[in-house]
Amino acid sequence: MMRVILLFFFSFLFSFSQERCGAEFYRDLLIEKDLFQPSNISNRQALSIGQYDIPVVFHIIYNNEQENISDDQVISQLDVLNKDYNAENQDFINVPDTFLNVASSSGIRFCLAQLDPLGNVSSGITRTYTDLEVFSMSEDKMKMSSEGGIDPWDTEKYLNIWVCDLSGNLLGFSTFPGTDPLLDGVVIDYQYLGVLLNSPSPYNLGRTATHEIGHFFGLEHTFYAGCSDWDGCDDTPPISSSSFGCPDFPQESCGSLDMTMNFMDYTNDACMYMFSTCQTNKMINNLINQRAGLLEQNFCFYNSLLDPEKDKNILRVIDILGRDTKGSGFNIKIYDNGFVEKTYKL
Ligand SMILES: [Zn+2]
Repeated sequence: MMRVILLFFFSFLFSFSQERCGAEFYRDLLIEKDLFQPSNISNRQALSIGQYDIPVVFHIIYNNEQENISDDQVISQLDVLNKDYNAENQDFINVPDTFLNVASSSGIRFCLAQLDPLGNVSSGITRTYTDLEVFSMSEDKMKMSSEGGIDPWDTEKYLNIWVCDLSGNLLGFSTFPGTDPLLDGVVIDYQYLGVLLNSPSPYNLGRTATHEIGHFFGLEHTFYAGCSDWDGCDDTPPISSSSFGCPDFPQESCGSLDMTMNFMDYTNDACMYMFSTCQTNKMINNLINQRAGLLEQNFCFYNSLLDPEKDKNILRVIDILGRDTKGSGFNIKIYDNGFVEKTYKL
């Protein structure tokens, strides 16, 4: 009887942890298929601290209207990413004093890609109707036009995020640096992309993408290898296992305080709000050394624009009106964070 209960308990734990993130399991699948080559790049100090603009394309793959999520939903996700990766998230103030000295901003910012691979003006969002009702992590069909999904845009130049109905209760998964270019990117279930304030789910604040993109830039889970503390970062204390729900602080395991509020743990969206200094350095290192193509093309040029009224970065170009008469810049038409249409000169 005890054995049955234990078996049930462990299978419950396994299925629970599978829900939050499939990145480790997916990496194992790719290794089996010989589609992943771990890198030999050591964790060098970041070459420079600055702003790193990442062009993103969201591929919305839908079988019904619910799955065909709105542009606003996508933009709310982008906003979360830009805040979380720059310690501008409102809940950053919840970081306990103990961890404040290692809580860090990466300088990584994300934009909807303004040009597609052919150089045409783009919204950075593609929409594809599919006959498939669900997509499985093990089959990669969402990443293939021939299989009911959509091929990625050049994965060396764009961060591809596929949004679809994932089978089971999986929230999302990502590839790590070193993955086959045809499969490289992040996949998020449509129910967990962006901010969904009316959703009863504890994963409704866009942190699934924050977490998965951490893997995309080479981060491991903070609980990877448990108390032996091999997550590649010394400033994330060892933690015996993944954390769920919203743990009170302080919690202790492995003889030290647990950083359950780290984006690379498994807590509810509302209960994760920081990267550590080592993690941000590691992400920038991996970006510069293994994903440098993302920084080469200036598909994010409006990211440097600020809305003078709101002192916020502008999020979305809807049209590039052309070069000005002196050929020194572009006139562009944009939506700002409040979705007001304006024309800017760059
Ligand atoms: Zn993960």
